[in-house]
Amino acid sequence: MCADRPVTLTDIRDAARRIAGRVTRTPLRLSPSLSERFGHPVRLKLETMQDTGAFKLRGATNALLSLSDEDKARGVIAVSTGNHGRGVAYAAQALGIKCAVYMSELVPDVKVDAIRKLGAEVVIVGRSQDDAEAAAFERIEKDGLKYIHPFDTPHVIAGQGTIGLEILEDMPDVANVLVPLSGGGLFAGIAIAIKSLRPQARLIGISMDRGAAMIESLRAGKPVPVEEVESLADSLGGGIGLQNAYTFEITKRLIDETLLLTEDEIAAAMRTLFREDRIVAEGGGAVGVGALVSGRLNLNPGPTAIVVSGCNVDMGRFLEIVS
Ligand SMILES: *Cc1c(COP(=O)(O)O)cnc(C)c1O
Repeated sequence: MCADRPVTLTDIRDAARRIAGRVTRTPLRLSPSLSERFGHPVRLKLETMQDTGAFKLRGATNALLSLSDEDKARGVIAVSTGNHGRGVAYAAQALGIKCAVYMSELVPDVKVDAIRKLGAEVVIVGRSQDDAEAAAFERIEKDGLKYIHPFDTPHVIAGQGTIGLEILEDMPDVANVLVPLSGGGLFAGIAIAIKSLRPQARLIGISMDRGAAMIESLRAGKPVPVEEVESLADSLGGGIGLQNAYTFEITKRLIDETLLLTEDEIAAAMRTLFREDRIVAEGGGAVGVGALVSGRLNLNPGPTAIVVSGCNVDMGRFLEIVS
């Protein structure tokens, strides 16, 4: 795959074959309470149950399995707000590939520790993803490690897209798919799968109202920088890259609606998931539920899938929020 060839349904099907048996095939579980509220069946795609606690393992595993033997021998490097680093570190350990993860000081300790435990070399630099990225690129110059982008690269997009295939297998008549949106790898992959096979399904991307890089870029008509601020949805932070090559165009083409949630709405969504469905989700993972209960979406009347993208939240913080 190269920059002038778009990511296709075939790439996603190839990814599904490649990662089968190496990642968890997560359930699409009925939420009786959300179904009752919405008046149509609502099912939750539980990437909270994915190994590493977030969907990013899918893209990371597909990307690492697609490397040349030479690149595998040299090792990989990731810059991450947490879940991507964890996914890359896990996949690298499973495949016996050396791995370094660079991150900014904004990343919660729970995520840093998890990555260290997976045997990766962790380097913490600066106050933003950009600082960490600059340091990582110096390292790449020096050591020739292979950079694994968190979202803007075909193998990662295709890996995340396997979620879309699984949603269609389990809910062939899906009318709406609600997806947390940051850099857009998750959204782009799912959107390519769903719109290729069920174009009438409505696709909604959801972010927090603080520093929603993709949604602000869509509004501006081009990739724009955003300020990084702390949010309950820390896994949705960071820019989309001013030189964005894939996810901006794909998202622009396939997205039907966007929604921004306040911190209070994100906290309420985490509470709803925990109390009504007994699911622990991190802030970024819960935004789809927040969007549905907000009543601010123009949804098709029909079966709805919500991607609950991850569960990596500090437990002390989580208990404060849900109690
Ligand atoms: C990375 C991440 C997202 C956003 O994915 P993008 O591909 O960057 O849009 C959503 N939820 C969780 C839990 C994540 O880790």
